[in-house]
Amino acid sequence: MGKISPMMEQYNSIKTKHKDHILFFRLGDFYEMFYDDALLASKELELTLTGRDCGQEERAPMCGVPYHSAEAYIARLIKKGYKVAICEQTEDPSLAKGLVQREVIRVITPGTIVETSMLDEGTNNFIASIFCDTKGFGVCFTDISTGEINTTEYIGRDAQQKLINELGRFLPSEIIFNQSFLDYKQVTSFIKNKLGCSANLTDDDEQIIASARKIITTHFNVQQLSELSLEDKPYCVNAVAILLRYLSDTQKIGLERLLSIDYYNDKQYMNLDIIARRNLELTETMRSGEKKGSLLWVLDKTKTAMGKRLLRTYIEQPLINPAAIDKRLNAVDELYQNSIQRSEIIAILTGIFDLERLMTKVVFGNCTPRDLKALECTASKLPGLKESVIDFKSAYLKQIYEGIDVLADIYELIHRAIKDEPPVTIKDGGVIEKGYNEELDNLHDIVFNTKEYLAKIEAEEREKTGISKLKIGYNRVFGYYIEVTRSNSENVPDRYIRKQTLANCERFITEELKVLEEKILGANEKIVRLEQRLFEEVRTYVASQLQRAQSTANAIARLDVYSSFAEVSSLRGYNRPDITISDELIIKDGRHPVVEALLTGVPFVANDCYLNGTDNQINIITGPNMAGKSTYMRQVALIVLMAQIGCFVPASSAKIGIVDGIFTRVGASDDLASGQSTFMVEMNEVAQILKGATNKSLLILDEIGRGTSTFDGMSIARAVIEFIADKKKLGAKTLFATHYHELTALEDALDSVKNYNIAVKKRGDDITFLRRIVPGGADDSYGIEVSKLAGIPDVIIARAHEILTALENGTCVQPTIKAQRQNQEQYENAQTSLLSLAESPVIEKLKTIDVNTLTPIEALNALYELKNML
Ligand code: ADP
Repeated sequence: MGKISPMMEQYNSIKTKHKDHILFFRLGDFYEMFYDDALLASKELELTLTGRDCGQEERAPMCGVPYHSAEAYIARLIKKGYKVAICEQTEDPSLAKGLVQREVIRVITPGTIVETSMLDEGTNNFIASIFCDTKGFGVCFTDISTGEINTTEYIGRDAQQKLINELGRFLPSEIIFNQSFLDYKQVTSFIKNKLGCSANLTDDDEQIIASARKIITTHFNVQQLSELSLEDKPYCVNAVAILLRYLSDTQKIGLERLLSIDYYNDKQYMNLDIIARRNLELTETMRSGEKKGSLLWVLDKTKTAMGKRLLRTYIEQPLINPAAIDKRLNAVDELYQNSIQRSEIIAILTGIFDLERLMTKVVFGNCTPRDLKALECTASKLPGLKESVIDFKSAYLKQIYEGIDVLADIYELIHRAIKDEPPVTIKDGGVIEKGYNEELDNLHDIVFNTKEYLAKIEAEEREKTGISKLKIGYNRVFGYYIEVTRSNSENVPDRYIRKQTLANCERFITEELKVLEEKILGANEKIVRLEQRLFEEVRTYVASQLQRAQSTANAIARLDVYSSFAEVSSLRGYNRPDITISDELIIKDGRHPVVEALLTGVPFVANDCYLNGTDNQINIITGPNMAGKSTYMRQVALIVLMAQIGCFVPASSAKIGIVDGIFTRVGASDDLASGQSTFMVEMNEVAQILKGATNKSLLILDEIGRGTSTFDGMSIARAVIEFIADKKKLGAKTLFATHYHELTALEDALDSVKNYNIAVKKRGDDITFLRRIVPGGADDSYGIEVSKLAGIPDVIIARAHEILTALENGTCVQPTIKAQRQNQEQYENAQTSLLSLAESPVIEKLKTIDVNTLTPIEALNALYELKNML
């Protein structure tokens, strides 16, 4: 067996450090994979498997992808759950003495992607890190592609549930955690079953925790944790340190992208758990998981990727501070009032690229010439954008004006340095604009002049030799040559050196041609190298301006969202809500933003809502199926939510006393994955709501208690209402839809309860939905009429009426004609006995007997007596 080749030795030593990753090993213009990686990748990516001589008897299995199209392959591997380590040549191969140095510069995992082609532009891609011990959790959510870091901590009783809610909101694509986290079964099973994302244990908890403070202060270049608002937040500190350590282990470049850190706590935002977010279909529908049909879909008139991402964050994170909400509303209002400026702003925003992620590519060093041009194009819009907000008065629009840095230097530099419509990569040059660099221009002159000179030589040689068909050509193997046809090869002078003989022609070189060739080829090579260096200089300069570009990106994102709110409000006739800190929730002519947008042909019927903390705290809503109960309840929740994110609302007017949380229990959905029945899921959710809600929350409860027997269900529903109504226990504002008409009796029993129903008009067997909410309980369930509307055959409808009448009269249900014939005798007996049973003296007698005080002998006598009565 031979000795392993030095390159394979280098490969093996790198691969031992990346056992869990597929190693993309750079060889010239390719990334190659070897051994098991090659076997796996050739299968997963449908690549041809070849082999490479590695100095040993057997060739090493190998497959590869061209480096310029590697992104698409990497994306496919990441999607399939693999992690890819990128090993680059870290020195110039032409300068290397012996083997070229190679190093892994990045490990790409689902949470560390910065390649825009692998990301959805309207969604953040978060990596989460979690630190916990027996008392609490710290969590940190980071989007490397936008440089955003958010951290918070939870201590105490509800910590685990709160963490689950946050994970459900940020939906990280990757999670790293410390050892103790494995003890928290509820959240780990949530990650496994619901999020299904990649989850990794940290390597060395104790060491990271011991140096957490140092890791953070070094990264952010600060003296004290207080400069980052992280003093006295030990859980956050450890979670952030876990993240930074993981990133520095996996990314050799680009970490400066993470500029700042945002500590937040659950007191800043509305309490909106996963269930409420899902039920209210904030960003996707429950049924199909699509954006269309969600609140985000209706509100999204944003024009930039940055605005799209921020809008999503706003929707999932409504505010609870009235001053902050009003500031947003003031900005939206100003844009709403000034439709000309708004249109102008929207037109400018339309031409703006994803500045945030472009800057990430610049910082990570993998931007293309076209990315820089996109940056230039974006920068070219900034003076106009800044100008368009100059006259606004509201605080946030003024802030936006201040926040937009027109990045004139970046624009000017790229404009001067990079050609319009440059090639996709810098690999072959052709990127740097004429006039940017003198040395480069000189080299181009040489190439250009020598080419002209070649044409001159060609003409001269023709004249000298008298061969009119003589021409000068070029190929990669022989360089420049003089070509003459075979018939003329006799006439070439002695100074011609024969290089190649082909079927019809011969090729020669001359001394003069050789000298020229060296000049041209040398200059071309120099041009490519120089262009690469100049491009790198431009990139480095732009990267160094990250902070300014980020501030601009933030301002653009906010302006885009506020304009989107103003635009949608104007298009759909929304009005500014009045935000208060009172207990009242007054909505006049409210509409459901999504149902309204989806309705075609029929108009949406607007409805009012009135809730307060005293005599209208709980509304019990009855009405037949399909009447519009859940639409109404969701619409109230959505209007409150829209108001608290700073948007206008679909109502003629709305006075919104801020709520601290919206909780929902809507519809029945089986949680088969966790093996729970519908009823268990329902009760579980109710339990969570009752635990999480406060007297400032809004509760939307739809058909609680339906999943069990009528009496059980009704008793639970009633007990829940009583609990909510009790100010000492909960006192939350509540909309409660139910089929149990008996619950409407609570209006008389409890001061805070009011009955409402959704009106229907009945004529004969037919009903018409009026969609209007009116005071009082519903007089009927109209179940049979709704079934008729749904297309149940008439014979069944008629039979259902028969059964209903019998039940309502307390009489026995008559079987159908066929059954009657079959069981005639039995039926008659049963009927007489059952019918007579209701008023029978036997029953009367039985009622008088007190079994508890009866002696055995009295019991026997009573039995005789009863028997005689039959
Ligand atoms: P319920 O919860 O009472 O069974 P839904 O709220 O699901 O009824 O409403 C059923 C359908 O009625 C909705 O899908 C919607 O198309 C329509 N609808 C509900 N409310 C209205 C309304 N106010 N105006 C117009 N159509 C409505």
